[in-house]
Amino acid sequence: MTAKEILQLISEKGIEMVDFRIVDVPGRQHHVTVPACEVDEDMLEKGVAFDGSSIQGFRSIEESDMVMRPDLTTAYVDAFTAHPTLDLVCDVYDPQGVRYERDPRFVAQKAEAFLKQSGIATDSFFGPELEFFLFDDVRFDSSPQGSFYAIDSSEANWNTGKDEGPNLAYKVKQKGGYFPVQPTDSQHDIRTEMVMELMRAGIRVERHHHEVATAGQAEINFRFNTLTATADTTMLYKYIIRNVARKYGKVATFMPKPLFGDNGSGMHVHQSLFNGDTPLFYEEGSYGNLSQTALYYIGGILHHAPAILAFSNPSTNSFKRLVPGYEAPVNLVFSKGNRSAAVRVPVAAVTPKACRIEFRTPDCTANPYVAFAAMLMAGLDGIRNKIDPTELGYGPVDKNIYELSGEEKLNIRSVPGSLGEVLAALEADHEFLLEGGVFTKDFIQNWIDLKRTTELEPMNLRPHPLEFQLYLDL
Ligand code: GLU
Ligand code: MG
Ligand code: MG
Repeated sequence: MTAKEILQLISEKGIEMVDFRIVDVPGRQHHVTVPACEVDEDMLEKGVAFDGSSIQGFRSIEESDMVMRPDLTTAYVDAFTAHPTLDLVCDVYDPQGVRYERDPRFVAQKAEAFLKQSGIATDSFFGPELEFFLFDDVRFDSSPQGSFYAIDSSEANWNTGKDEGPNLAYKVKQKGGYFPVQPTDSQHDIRTEMVMELMRAGIRVERHHHEVATAGQAEINFRFNTLTATADTTMLYKYIIRNVARKYGKVATFMPKPLFGDNGSGMHVHQSLFNGDTPLFYEEGSYGNLSQTALYYIGGILHHAPAILAFSNPSTNSFKRLVPGYEAPVNLVFSKGNRSAAVRVPVAAVTPKACRIEFRTPDCTANPYVAFAAMLMAGLDGIRNKIDPTELGYGPVDKNIYELSGEEKLNIRSVPGSLGEVLAALEADHEFLLEGGVFTKDFIQNWIDLKRTTELEPMNLRPHPLEFQLYLDL
């Protein structure tokens, strides 16, 4: 869309406010709103100023003047404002008009440019599958000492820690959410409403269903697209899901493991490369119909997995999900069917164009722009350096991994176990991310410092509720 077309849209739809949005380093959206009567072509082309010093991961106080410049292709008429509002996703610039290197969207765009320039492929396609929980009530104590939260879900009478009064029964049984019909599935209508809003926003939704967990777990899938476009869609998707949930008086959370002892929420990421119209991952008759290019891509992903996880699983909570028994991946192998494998190769009804790999470790605490970019860079490193996953002992493993003998299991590497581990892995292994200037050293160091000081250390410093059970009387 051109600036003129946006102005036309504003007048046709009776838009009263224009909302300029950016994404901070961890992956939260922020916005500044301008009355539509103040918006002209010049503003749409040059952008609006903002103070970058209060945005997490951006600049320090003394160099805080920044500019957000809208990408006019992202225009979305907001469904959740009292007055008609047009939302625009922006790129971040410094006052000299230079792209800001800590802007996550810039990293994603550079990764796509690097791919084209590498001559390996013209396009990388990403299809994330976001899972989330819908709770009726989440309470937490946010005092500095705070370490208490309580969750309530009317779909389950398990894990809520609450005595129930009279109710309508038809509760979801433990890990039984996938996928009985209504009235057990009490969230069908709210998911449908979410899908309607997603479609209204131009997102191509493929399906929705209740997920396995007991207390209101959902999954809504949308169609794959190129890297930055998919990251934009992921942000808009989360915005819509959270706001429809709020309209229904519920809380949507994408945190990976809100409930102990039940399935967590992942963001499996399907990926493939194309040269123009030609798919590069397909070769009929080979393992999973995968081409050598696809195998090297998998090699790159698995070889660099500990470092990539610092972007794709970047929270302390991420590692509470990556444990055996809940369909989350725990093994650094690839496999045609195994859900405990980090990389799954979908084989059901796969055509050359649909041939892809599914990286299963990521979760929704990832900032999609940098997580997708890190995955692409790892895959490309695999292709450029011919990293053969089989030679390096990453499978394929098609037996049920839980049932392998001790000796067979010994050869299988596990996914890392903590945020601390993956941050250290990123510190040690990031040359592949610096190729073509896609990630900068500053971006990586800033990421590691931010995660250590604002998440890992504060978490480690607080007594955990379980410690009272374990140690109170010792
Ligand atoms: N919820 C599972 C996870 O944590 C995945 C379930 C599925 O295969 O869709 O990744
Ligand atoms: Mg799922
Ligand atoms: Mg999946």
